[in-house]
Formats: sequence, structure tokens, C-alpha cells
Amino acid sequence: MLEDRTNSGPRDRSSEPRDRSSEPPVLDRLHSLLETLGLREADQTLEAHLERAASQQSSYADLLCELLADEVTARHDRNLSTRIKLSHLPYRKTLEQFDFTFQPSIDERQIRELKTLRFAHDASNVIFLGPPGVGKTHLSVGLALEAMRAGMSAYFITAHDLIEDLSSAAREGRLRKRWQVYLRPRVLIIDEMGYLPMGELGGTLFFQLVSARYERSSIILTSNKSYGDWGGVFADPVIATAILDRLLHHSTTINIRGESYRLRERKKAGLLNPAMGVPPARATAGKACDQTGQRTEHRQGTQHREEAQPQGP
Ligand code: ADP
Ligand code: MG
Repeated sequence: MLEDRTNSGPRDRSSEPRDRSSEPPVLDRLHSLLETLGLREADQTLEAHLERAASQQSSYADLLCELLADEVTARHDRNLSTRIKLSHLPYRKTLEQFDFTFQPSIDERQIRELKTLRFAHDASNVIFLGPPGVGKTHLSVGLALEAMRAGMSAYFITAHDLIEDLSSAAREGRLRKRWQVYLRPRVLIIDEMGYLPMGELGGTLFFQLVSARYERSSIILTSNKSYGDWGGVFADPVIATAILDRLLHHSTTINIRGESYRLRERKKAGLLNPAMGVPPARATAGKACDQTGQRTEHRQGTQHREEAQPQGP
């Protein structure tokens, strides 16, 4: 059956009939052609497709369509895993894996809206504020995965590593080249902003980065500090205000108040006495965020961009 189908394929359209007796068998030629065209998946699954088409008596068009569709799917998967590898995500957790019932301070509809990636198309920013363990990084990673599934590029870095990297590039005269790493991705995730203070150079570099991406491409940022406390993160309060001004102009802020998921897991495992509550270090960070009293309004409807007012330091 297989032989019949391959040998009775479409006729050669050239005007001169060719003598094929000296040519390699048609299957070998097909493999060689698919390899030359870089159609790896089609090359590997050719026989299976031919067998199936023969047994199901599919048309030539169906056979071709299925062969090429498999190629496209495999190529898409390959591109996605390369994109994910290059994004440097700390872990792979999806939005579906997030338990919203555990964190009722998060409006799930807001996350669903972000999942549409309108923010990325609009070059708008997303900022997750809250104490440690409440899911800021998880939600950022989930959004980044959504963006990459949609064909966008993403890059994840902690604020500390970002500033370390840019500062040493500046000192060694490689800054121009290094900028590209942080300007090129459609979505840049800057994690753990505010855990460590930034020096003068750090603040300037961060300002330059936020300015360069402003209205061009999105930043997803996580912080344990309320906007009001950002003055203490940057050496220069003027820089802090200028950064917030650009960052928040088109943005969605998700302010998470709640218990650490990590602590809950430890409590469940009996590693922590519930009466002990939150350890002192976490309590401090949590307090910083609870002081914000901020919850950026998210307007549903025609206008997506939000005009969140930065609180000066
Ligand atoms: P942080 O707010 O400090 O960035 P993470 O996002 O890193 O916290 O969350 C800490 C851990 O707890 C991660 O493994 C994350 O997947 C998990 N986690 C946090 N919140 C939730 C949640 N609501 N549902 C499921 N997993 C969660
Ligand atoms: Mg985190």
C-alpha cells in the first residue's frame, strides 16, 4: 500500500519525461529534500504519516497537511523551549497553578485581564507589591510564560543582579552592548526590587533602563516595599520619584496582602508552630507593604492604560 502511494504520486510536470531509474528511491529523495529544507519533524515522521494515510486512504492534500502541521507544532514547541531557556526564569509555574483561594487580596479577574497580554501589547507595566512568600514571583513567572507562549520574548533577573551586571558593564566600558540584554525582551521581569538599597550609580542605571523601556516594552516588577518607601531604596529621592513617574504612568499594581504560602506549607508540615506566627524578618517586610494602603484601580473597558499616581518618597 505504502509503495503504491509513493510511486503513484503527482506526475512530474516538466515537459520532458525524466528517466527515474537511476535516481534513488522516492522515499530516500523525500527524506533528503525534507532534510535540506530543515523540516526535521516531517523527516522523522514521514513513514508514520505515509502509513496512516495509506490505511485511512487519506487524500494527498490531507497527508501533506498533517505532515506540515506536525512540523509547525514541533517547531513552535522548539522555539518556545528555547525562549524559556533564554528567559532565565527561576522556576516554571503557571497562572493555573496559582491558588487564588489562598490569597483573597488578589482580584482574580485582574490576573485574568493580565493573562490576555494586553499589557504587553500596550507596553504597560505590571507591579506586584507584597511581603515575602505571597506569590509575587510566581505570578510574574506565570505571566512571562503566557507571553512566551504567545511568541514574545521575556527575560527574568533580580534587581540586585541587574544593577550588579549593569554597574560592572559601565565600569568596564561594555554598557552599550549590555543594554541590549535588558532592552530587547518584550517583557522584562525585575524581581525583588527594594530588598537591597541601590547606590547612586545603581539608581542612575535603573532610571535609564526604565526610561528606555518606557512606552516601548513592558516591565513586570516585584517588590516588598510600598511606593512610599522607594525613596529609601535609591540614594537620590529625586531619582526615585522620576523612576516611579515613568514606571507607573501606564501600569497595573497588584498589592498582595496575606500570609506567606511558604510558611503555610511549613506549618502544614508541622515545622512551624502556628502560634509563633511570622518570623521577625518577614514581619518587618510585611509591615512595609501593609503601610501602603495602596491598591491601584484597574479600569476594565475601553481604556486599558492606567494613570496610577506615584507616591513621592
Ligand atoms: P514571593 O512573593 O516571595 O515572590 P513566590 O512567588 O516565590 O513568593 O512564592 C513562594 C512559593 O510559594 C513559590 O513556590 C510559589 O509557587 C508558591 N506560592 C505562593 N503563593 C501561592 C499560591 N497562592 N498558590 C500556589 N502556590 C503559591
Ligand atoms: Mg519572590
